[in-house]
Amino acid sequence: MFVVMEDRELTPEQKEYKESARKFAREEILPRAAEYDKTGEYPWETIKKAWKLGLMNLHIPEHCGGMNLGIVDTCIVTEELAYGCTGVQTAIEANSLGQMPIIISGNAEQQKKYLGRMTEEPLMCAYCVTEPTAGSDVAGIKTRAEKKGNTYVLNGQKMWITNGGYANWFFVLARTVADPKVPASKAFTGFIVDGDSPGVIRGRKELNMGQRASDTRGITFEDVVVPSENVLGGEGIGFKIAMGAFDKTRPSVAAGAVGLAQRALDEATKYSMERKTMGKLICEHQAVAFMLADMAIGVESARLATLRSAWEIDQGRRNTYYASIAKALAGDVANKCAADAVQIFGGNGFNSEYPVEKLMRDAKIYQIYEGTAQIQRMIISRELLAQAQKNI
Ligand SMILES: Cc1cc2nc3c(=O)[nH]c(=O)nc-3n(C[C@H](O)[C@H](O)[C@H](O)COP(=O)(O)OP(=O)(O)OC[C@H]3O[C@@H](n4cnc5c(N)ncnc54)[C@H](O)[C@@H]3O)c2cc1C
Repeated sequence: MFVVMEDRELTPEQKEYKESARKFAREEILPRAAEYDKTGEYPWETIKKAWKLGLMNLHIPEHCGGMNLGIVDTCIVTEELAYGCTGVQTAIEANSLGQMPIIISGNAEQQKKYLGRMTEEPLMCAYCVTEPTAGSDVAGIKTRAEKKGNTYVLNGQKMWITNGGYANWFFVLARTVADPKVPASKAFTGFIVDGDSPGVIRGRKELNMGQRASDTRGITFEDVVVPSENVLGGEGIGFKIAMGAFDKTRPSVAAGAVGLAQRALDEATKYSMERKTMGKLICEHQAVAFMLADMAIGVESARLATLRSAWEIDQGRRNTYYASIAKALAGDVANKCAADAVQIFGGNGFNSEYPVEKLMRDAKIYQIYEGTAQIQRMIISRELLAQAQKNI
């Protein structure tokens, strides 16, 4: 990898995580990435190895047997894994997203029960919020949870759930107040739902444009009985919990996009130093060299924005503004770098024998999941204007 930035600011532990993640990505993920992409097979063997090496579930608290790593630490690992294949990285990242509501609002018993088991064996979980008719408009979700004695009964349909086919348990957001006039901040509740609960119906694996190693499905809840002790944080505060998780997970999603962008830059650089046209290496044509320079500008700035957003939350400060900037910038940079890499590869770039067309297909989702590019800009402008209002 032609990394310009040096690692001297990292702690010895961070250097170790980075080295271990890099080695794993180069030796275990990258060589299998094309095959997983072609077959759509879930990368279980690779995930199990990542689990054994301690490269996933990094946020789990120590009292549950986890490593309790910070967001900067996890971003460092995520970028490396994504360099190998973002389909595999998304499957791993979806565990963090599923776990985060429990980390931020679960009680000690819930954490021990559901996070603890993930340190004992390689298990997957999922964050179950989006529905066929509501993604960006989270307040528009229709899944209902009705209280019956000491339980809740869940009915509804979720869509695009990463790890849907393999999740041992789900974080599920459901409406507990029927009255549509009640604000979102009071109308929803977050639940932990065991994957083997009767009435949990997992749909077929969706055939997506990219990140095909990742498993995305619709999940239907049909009269699923959930005990009250699986309510997260109390009835009515689920919306805040579901949205609050993003402050801690968006930096890692951005790191995944940076990993893909770096890979695109490295592949394009290498190819441009081998391919000749008109008596010169193509990197000696200024038009191509400047494309590489623009890709490098994007990668370096997206990485810095990502680390800034991660560092803010590690310092205990609200990072919503920075997390959205990082996610939006890194998503756009990944798409630009992947498209430019295809361009630099010429006709070969359009062909699946070469690695960059996969990068271009894989990159698109970074502008869609975990808040689209437009939703990030809504958040950034809202935060910016609120701050400006305070300064008047
Ligand atoms: C591969 C994949 C994995 C996913 N994994 C998960 C998961 O694990 N868990 C989960 O809960 N969800 C998951 N999602 C869902 C994902 O988060 C949503 O698809 C995403 O939030 C967008 O929602 P939507 O698809 O309903 O699009 P819509 O909300 O219908 O948006 C359509 C378009 O309109 C734009 N738009 C919408 N509202 C506005 C607005 N107010 N202003 C400006 N533009 C707007 C959007 O930016 C987008 O361009 C996944 C999706 C995919 C494809």
